[in-house]
Parts: sequence; structure tokens; C-alpha cells
Amino acid sequence: MPLAFDLGQRPHLGYTQSRIDRVAERRLDTDWLASRGADANTRTYVIGGELIVLKKGSGAHDPAFRLDEVRALAPNTETVFLGLFDGHARFGVGITPASAEALKTRDDLVVTDLRSIAIQGLVTPEHLPPLAEAKAMLHWHARHRFCSNCGAATDMVEAGWKRACPACKVEHFPRTDPVVIMLTISADGNKGLLGRSGRFAATMWSCLAGFVEPGEAIEDAVRRETLEEAGVKCGRVRYLYSQPWPFPMSLMIGAHAEALNEDLTMDKNELVGLRWFSKDECAAMLMRKHPEGLTCPPPVAIAHHIIRSWVESNGAIF
Ligand SMILES: [Zn+2]
Repeated sequence: MPLAFDLGQRPHLGYTQSRIDRVAERRLDTDWLASRGADANTRTYVIGGELIVLKKGSGAHDPAFRLDEVRALAPNTETVFLGLFDGHARFGVGITPASAEALKTRDDLVVTDLRSIAIQGLVTPEHLPPLAEAKAMLHWHARHRFCSNCGAATDMVEAGWKRACPACKVEHFPRTDPVVIMLTISADGNKGLLGRSGRFAATMWSCLAGFVEPGEAIEDAVRRETLEEAGVKCGRVRYLYSQPWPFPMSLMIGAHAEALNEDLTMDKNELVGLRWFSKDECAAMLMRKHPEGLTCPPPVAIAHHIIRSWVESNGAIF
């Protein structure tokens, strides 16, 4: 019987459990949206490409600006309506990456990327889901200003939730790119397969992952990616949970997969390392206690939770 570890209380998965009520019916209510400026509790996130602007605080920094503060910061590009937060309107406003970069010189602001904000806990956790929503939406607008059908400039409508082409009348909707991310587990339940991308820190090992392709089921994408990257055929696939991942606009779909073989053939274009790990080792890596200093991703990332749920299982995961 494989070991089951108890690593204590499970940490929160970053960018999930949003407190935003999206109130989609309000997106067409231009009078109501315009009147939100008069609500003293309306707040706005300010994003310039990969950079988020924060008001410097003594503890956590504050990412939620008043509308008049935002207009004074830099010229605004798009404004998108995220929804209601505790009953009050919340928006995302774009500024150019160059404007965001220029704000780094201000003593009263902190300007940094969302990964750093999440990992270092620079804002209180309730801001992470709406920041992810705002960042993904503003990225989509920045890259979709022209109609993919006829090439004409499009107009933002419905408070940012659609772009309309005035020439050919085609409507364009914000995109989310599905990515499968999986821990493939040996048939006896004792070993999990982790890989290393060349982009990772030198000690980091994580789950394999890849984009779901058109015409492909999630389970088939898990099997294809594992075979392509590791030469391992997978049998059963079990969905665990998902996570918005606004880098730039993905949805991570977490799974466990059953390995049908253990010999490995690494895809050297995608990976610089690939090996099986025991639960012992993964438990130590998750808790940052591995004797060789090896690590798994931090709790803000879904890979941490996918690996942990196997480590804490008794092996009967299928
Ligand atoms: Zn068009």
C-alpha cells in the first residue's frame, strides 16, 4: 500500500474563488455604467501590458484606484467592466506598457508583474482573481483591435466583453486558451512524472502541460502531450480542478493520468529534464525541505495542488 502524506492545511489556489459578481446584464446598461463614477466606492485596476500599478502601502499594497486617480496616472487605453465587488462597480483600465514603465519612478507607487504580486503576496488575496480577469481582458483588447474577418478597425462594445466590426458586422468575443496540466502516475501509484523546462529556476520540477488543440477532448490532450513530451502512454485520466492563468489568457485544466509504461523518451525541444519522483521526494519538494534543494511550484500555481493531491492520496486515485 503506497504511503499517504499529510502536509497540513491546503493552501489557497491563486486566482480562483473570485468575489466578483459579473452581472453580465449590466454590460449593456451604458447609463448605469457611466454613472458609476459618482459612486465613491467604485474602484479600478490599472494595467500596462504585463505590469500592474499598485499604491504603495505599509503592509500589502493597494491595487484598487479611484477613477479620478486613474485618469491622472497616464492616458487610458481601454476600460473594461469586471463586475461588482461587494456591491460596487470594479473596472480594469489599460495604460500603455511604456506609461506603466514610466510610473516606476514614483515613490508612492509600486509597478510590477502579476506573478511577483501573487507569489510575494504584495496585495491581499481577494484582488488576485479580478486582477487576472482585468489583465486577460486588456491583453485581448490590445491584440484584437482589427477584425480577423475583413481587417477593419473594430469597436469595443458591451463594457469590453465584445468587439464589433463596423464594416462586415462580425462580432468578436474575448478568448481563453485551454491548457492541460497533468501529473502522470505510475500504475502502482508510487511514482509521479515531473519535467523541467529550460525557463525554470535551476531547482524547479513541475507537471507536464500543453495547449488543448482544436477538435480535441481534454483527456485526449493529456494523453497526447504526455506521449509527445515523455514517451509515456496514458490510460485513464481524472480531472481535478482548473485555474485561470492570465499569462496571457489561459485556463489551466489540472488532471492526474495513469501511466501505461515507465520508460521515458524526453522531448528535448520542450524539456531539459524528465524523471519519476517518489511521494517522499515530492512531499519534501512541496514543503521546501528536499535535501538537494529541489522544489515544486509554489501554492499560487495549480501544479503544486496537482502534485500535492497525489502525495496526500493513498494511491487509489482512479
Ligand atoms: Zn470585419
